[in-house]
Amino acid sequence: MTLVPFRSLPAHAVTSPHPETTWVRDWAAQGQCAGQDPDALFVQGKEQRLAKAMCKGCPVVAECLADALDNRTPFGVWGGMTERERRALLRARPDVTDWAALLQAMRAAGATEFSASQVG
Ligand code: SF4
Repeated sequence: MTLVPFRSLPAHAVTSPHPETTWVRDWAAQGQCAGQDPDALFVQGKEQRLAKAMCKGCPVVAECLADALDNRTPFGVWGGMTERERRALLRARPDVTDWAALLQAMRAAGATEFSASQVG
């Protein structure tokens, strides 16, 4: 498992997705939560920890997180982050206009986990 800080890749350095990197466009069907009760991802308080645990090791965590960030998805756990964590990330990185491109570049750089705790 490799953690790559979000700040290690400046947004201006990402001009286009890396075509050699696998990026799943139809990611929802490949998520670890596929087939689970969707309401399990729309919880509050301590239950969010359980929801986030479902995202650990999900093969499409980057795609899921990028989709939620690029679309400003207001509710639910997506890509291992709560709505509050995503709002904090969006505030911390107003320079990022294409989260899919940035997370794809991070994956190409070796990242396998995309953690809110990496945002300083
Ligand atoms: S990252 Fe989490 S919410 Fe997104 S597809 Fe995977 S398990 Fe589901």
